[in-house]
Amino acid sequence: MFGFLLKKLSGRHYRKFVAKCRPVVDRINALEQEYQSLSDEALRAKTDDFRQRIKAGATLDDILPEAFATVKNAARRLCGRTVLVCEHELVWNMVHFDVQLIGGMALHQGKIAEMATGEGKTLVATLPLYLNALASRNCQLVTVNDYLARRDSQWMGHLYQFLGLTVGCIQNQMSPAQRREAYGCDITYGTASEFGFDYLRDNGMATRKEDQVQRDHFFCIVDEIDSILVDEARTPLIISGPMAIQREQPYPRLKPSIQRLVDEQTRLCNRLVGEVKTVLEKADATAEDKTDAFQKLLQVKVGSPKNKLLMRLMETPEWRKQLDKVELEMNSDFNKEANFRLKEELFFVIDERQHQADLTEKGRTFLKPEDPDAFVLPDLPTLFSDLEREHDLSPEEKENRKRTARERFEAVGEDIHAISQLLRAYSLYERDVQYVVTPDGKVAIVDENTGRLMPGRRWSDGLHAAVEAKEGVQIERETRTYATITIQNYFRMYAKLAGMTGTAETEATEFHEIYKLDVVVIPTNRPCIRKDENDVIYKTRRSKFQAVIKEIEAAHKIGQPVLVGTVSVEASEVLSRMLRRSNITHAVLNAKFHEQEADIVARAGQRGAVTIATNMAGRGTDIKLGEGVADLGGLFVVGTERHESRRIDRQLRGRCSRQGDPGRSKFYISLEDDLMRLFASAGPLARIMEKSMTEDEELAHPLLNRSIESAQKKVEQQNFSIRKRLLQYDDVLNKQREIIYAIRNDALHSDEPRKVIFDMIGEEIANRLESAGFGEKGGPVPQALEGLVGWLNTHFPVGLHAADFEKLPAEEAAKVIVGRISEAYALKESAENRDALLHLERYLVINAIDNHWQEHLTEMEDLRKSIGLRSYGQKDPLVEYKSEAFRYFGELMDNIRVQICTSVFRSATNLIALENMKNMLARSARLEGPGTPQAAAPAAAPAAPGEPAGEPKREIKLPVIQVKRDVPKVGRNDPCPCGSGKKYKNCHGA
Ligand code: ADP
Ligand code: MG
Repeated sequence: MFGFLLKKLSGRHYRKFVAKCRPVVDRINALEQEYQSLSDEALRAKTDDFRQRIKAGATLDDILPEAFATVKNAARRLCGRTVLVCEHELVWNMVHFDVQLIGGMALHQGKIAEMATGEGKTLVATLPLYLNALASRNCQLVTVNDYLARRDSQWMGHLYQFLGLTVGCIQNQMSPAQRREAYGCDITYGTASEFGFDYLRDNGMATRKEDQVQRDHFFCIVDEIDSILVDEARTPLIISGPMAIQREQPYPRLKPSIQRLVDEQTRLCNRLVGEVKTVLEKADATAEDKTDAFQKLLQVKVGSPKNKLLMRLMETPEWRKQLDKVELEMNSDFNKEANFRLKEELFFVIDERQHQADLTEKGRTFLKPEDPDAFVLPDLPTLFSDLEREHDLSPEEKENRKRTARERFEAVGEDIHAISQLLRAYSLYERDVQYVVTPDGKVAIVDENTGRLMPGRRWSDGLHAAVEAKEGVQIERETRTYATITIQNYFRMYAKLAGMTGTAETEATEFHEIYKLDVVVIPTNRPCIRKDENDVIYKTRRSKFQAVIKEIEAAHKIGQPVLVGTVSVEASEVLSRMLRRSNITHAVLNAKFHEQEADIVARAGQRGAVTIATNMAGRGTDIKLGEGVADLGGLFVVGTERHESRRIDRQLRGRCSRQGDPGRSKFYISLEDDLMRLFASAGPLARIMEKSMTEDEELAHPLLNRSIESAQKKVEQQNFSIRKRLLQYDDVLNKQREIIYAIRNDALHSDEPRKVIFDMIGEEIANRLESAGFGEKGGPVPQALEGLVGWLNTHFPVGLHAADFEKLPAEEAAKVIVGRISEAYALKESAENRDALLHLERYLVINAIDNHWQEHLTEMEDLRKSIGLRSYGQKDPLVEYKSEAFRYFGELMDNIRVQICTSVFRSATNLIALENMKNMLARSARLEGPGTPQAAAPAAAPAAPGEPAGEPKREIKLPVIQVKRDVPKVGRNDPCPCGSGKKYKNCHGA
C-alpha cells in the first residue's frame, strides 16, 4: 500500500521535471526551425561563437537551448547521408525527438535519465556532450564494452565533426600516445575500466608528466549506468605485477586434510538425509520423530547446502515449509543452545547467504586430533599481560616470547583463513557454474550476470588460490598491487557525473546515497504496449524447461521471434540441447565476443528467430523487428529464471516493444531456482504451494509475482548493504589515495619538486624535535638529543652540533636545522646540471612514494583480512579497520619522509656531480670552521662521544652512493669516483 503511494509520488516528481523542461523544448524547437535556413558553415560557426561567449562569462545553462538546437539541426542535415560505422555503411535517419531533448537536459543536470531500450540514448548523449565540451574541457562517455565505444564514437562522431568538435575513443590495446590523443579530443568514448586504469597509470605509475594521458575529470556520462555502477561496483580495478618475494601458499598444504574433512561431512550429511527420508516417508511416524527429522535436515542444510538429496526432498513444498519453520525457530534466541549443539555435530558450518564457512570443534579435532587448538587464535592480550607478570624473565626473553606468540598468531590466523576459503571453495563454488577450468589449467571466473568468462580476474582474499588448490591446478603466483581503485570511487571524482539506462528506478536509493545521482524517468517517445504476463511457477527445473520449450515451439510455429534469457551459461546450454532435440534452429549467445554478439542480437527480431542469451549479452544493441513480425505480436521475451535483482529482469523485458512496437514477456520459475530456494519460501507463496503441486502442474497468480518481487527486494537490499559496507571500507583507502596521489602529482608537475622534498624534510625534523622533547617543559632529553644529532649528521652533510639548536624553541630549532640543510643543498645544486637535478628530485619523491605506497596497499589488504578474523571479538570491524588504517597511514608517511631524507644527499645525477658537490661542501666546511658563531658553542655542549669537544665536525660523510642516470664510464686507472684518492681498479673497481 505504502509502496504504491510512494510510486505515485515519485511518478509525480518525474512528471514535474518533464513539465519544467517543456518550455525549453519549445524554445529549442523554435530555434532549430530558425537554423534550418542557415548555411552549413553558419551552423558550424555557432560552435566557435558559443565558445567565445562562454569565455566571456556565459554559463552552459545560458546557451543550452541554442546548443541543443544546433545539435538537433546538425542531425537533421545529416539525414539521408551514408555514414560509416565500424566498417558498415548506414544511412543517418535520426533527428532528436522531444523526449530525447528532455533526456539530454537531465544528463546535463547531472542526473540519471531512465529511458527505455530503443529510445535512442546514444543520440541523447550528443546534446549534453556537445554543450559541455564547449567549456573546452574533456567530456567523456562510458560504454559497457570496447565495441560499443568504437561504434558509438564513430556513429555520433559524424555529428560532432559536422559541428567542428573532435571525438576520440579509447580501446584496450592502445598505446599511451594514442590514448593521450584520444583524451585530447573534445569528447572521448571508452569503457569504465579503460578510464579507470588510465587514471591509475597516470597517478600511480607515470614517472613523467609527459606519460600521463588523461587531462580532465570534468563531465562524464555513463551509459547503462546500472550495469557499471551497481553490477560492477564490487570489482575493484587493480594493476598488479609479480611480487619480489613469493610467500609459501597454505592451500596445497591444507588441501588433503580439508578434502578428507569435506568427504567426511558429505558422508555424514548423506546418512542424515537418508534417515530423514525414511522417517518422512513412513506413514506412522510420530510428531516427535518428525521434529527430530527436520532438525537433522537443517543440519544437512547448514553442513552441505547443495546436497542433492536435500534438494530433492525440498521439492515437496510441505517439507520445505517445515524445514523453514524449524530453521526460523532454531535461529531465535530461545534456541541458541540447541542451535549450537546442532552445529557442533557437524565438522564445519556453511552460511550460504553470508558466504561464510567455519570449522566446528569436531572439525578441528578431526583435522588435528592431538592439538585441536591448532586452529584457535591465541589470545594475545592475556598472553602478554601474563608475560609481564613473570618477573624471572629477562626483558629480552619476554620480548622473544612475545615475538613467538605474535608469529604464531599470524600463522594460525592465516591457516584459519585459508581453511575457511577452502571450505567455501568446496561447498559453495561449483565447477562450470561459478567458474570453469580452462584447457590450459586456469580457474576462470564466470560472470554471474553475463555468463562471460573473465580470464585474468581473480577472486580476492585467497579464494581463487583455494579453488585452484581444490581443482589441483597450478596456483598462480602471488602478485603485488601497484595501484587500485574501485569503479565507485573512480566515478566519484568527476565534477559532474550523469548516466542513462533503461533500468535505474529500482536502484534510485543507491544512486542517490552513494553517488548523489537523482533518477528521472523520461517518458517514451511512443507509448509502450508490451504485455508483461504473470510469472508461471513449476515444481522442478525440468518441468519448467519443458514448458519453456513448448512455449517456444508454439511461437516458432507461427514465426514469432523469441528471445530467451537465462541466468547462467549452463542453463543456456541445457535449453540449447532441448531445442536441438525439438529441431528448432536457434542462436546461443554467451557474451564472449561483443561484436559478434551484437550482430546476433540485432537479428533476434527477425521472423522465426530463436535466440538464447545470458542476461547481459548484447546489452546496448537494438533489436529491430523484421518484416511482418509486428503482426505476429512482435518479439516474445521468455525469462527462464527470476534474477536476484528486479532490474536485470526489467532489462530483459525491455528488449522487446521498443519505440511502440508490440511484444510480450513472460517468466518461468521453478521451486528449485536459487532465488526461490533461498528467499521466497516463506510467506504467501508457501501458502499457495501448500496444496502440493504435481510435477507438471503450473501455477500463475498476480500474488505470486508480488511475493517473488519481495524476495528480490530482500536480495537487492542485502546486496546494496554489502556494496555500501564495501564502500565504507574503501573510503578509508580512497582518502589515503587522494593524499598520496596529490603529493605525487605535485612532484610530477611542479617546476620545483624540491619544495615537496623540503616540506617532507621539514616535517620529519619537526617530528623528531618533538619526540626528542623539544617544546616540553624540561627541554630536550639529552639522550634523545644526542640521537637526533647523530641522525641529522648521517643523513645530511650539515655537521650540526647539539649546541647549535638545543637551547632554541622547537620552531626556531627546526628553522636552524632546515636552514643548514638548504645551504648544503644549494651547494649540491651548484654542482649539478639543473635539468638533470629537477629530474632527480622528482624521481626521489616518486620513488619513495611508490615503494611505500605499494607496500601499504598490500598491508591494507592484509589488514582487511585480519579484521574479518578480529570481528570475533564483538567489536565493530569497520571502526577497528579505520583506526588501524590511520596508524598504518601515519607509518606510511613516516617511511616516505625517511626515504626522502635518506636519499636526498646520497644520490646525484651523475658521479661527476657528486664529486663536485663533495668538494664544494668540503671547501665550505673549511670556510665555516672554528670561530664561526655556531662553532663558538659553550664547551659544556654535549658532544658526540669520541669526538673532541669544540671541534665541530663539518666534513661530509655520504655513506652509500646511489647513482641514478648518466653514469660516466670510469677508466680502470682513473681516480676512483668515491673520492678515496686511490685508482679505480684498486678501490671500487676492484
Ligand atoms: P538505446 O541505447 O536507448 O537502447 P539506441 O541508441 O541503441 O537506443 O537506439 C535505438 C535505435 O533507435 C537506433 O537504431 C537508432 O537509430 C534509433 N533512433 C534513435 N533516435 C532516433 C530518432 N530520433 N529518430 C529515429 N531513429 C532513432
Ligand atoms: Mg544504448
